[in-house]
Amino acid sequence: MDPSARQSLLEDIAAQVRACPHCRLCETRTNAVPGEGPSDAPVMFIGEGPGAAEDRQGRPFVGPAGQLLNQLLLGAGLRRPEVFITNIVKCRPPNNREPHPDEVAACSEYLEGQIALLQPRLICLLGRPATQTLVDPSASMSRVHGRVFEKDGLKFMPIYHPAAALHNPRMRAPLEADFKALAAVVKDSL
Ligand code: SF4
Repeated sequence: MDPSARQSLLEDIAAQVRACPHCRLCETRTNAVPGEGPSDAPVMFIGEGPGAAEDRQGRPFVGPAGQLLNQLLLGAGLRRPEVFITNIVKCRPPNNREPHPDEVAACSEYLEGQIALLQPRLICLLGRPATQTLVDPSASMSRVHGRVFEKDGLKFMPIYHPAAALHNPRMRAPLEADFKALAAVVKDSL
């Protein structure tokens, strides 16, 4: 599929997300956050869900965790405009709670559609909920972070969520180690 057709289909998904009534999170959102990035992005990042800043702006990872993500991306040899960034749920869970399983299930058609169109060479899963949704429901981040897993013809790398280092400064070193592991994969195979 040529990139412009793929971009157009990604925009169709984004339009459906912005009007979506399929779970309770539509009742409390200000803006749905479909995700953003180029249709030929080699790397896709998937987080847990939009926060307050993202809900206000309708864009993913634009708050403090997003600013840290931008810095870490540069350290891994990636620029933000080159990657596609989204979440397992596209609307903000109230008070930043974890998304409920039925909300993740209701939203999965959009994420699956984005992955199918992008066919990224690597999918980075930011934090436990994204990792458990896409790799293994019983995955423990301390065991799987920084490693590459293959599933259904796709490569996944779980890494700690940047917000973890904002809440707990001791998480900064493992987070930076994860992005070093990501840089090595990017250098070797992308
Ligand atoms: S979280 Fe997903 S399924 Fe729920 S309302 Fe938003 S777009 Fe629809």
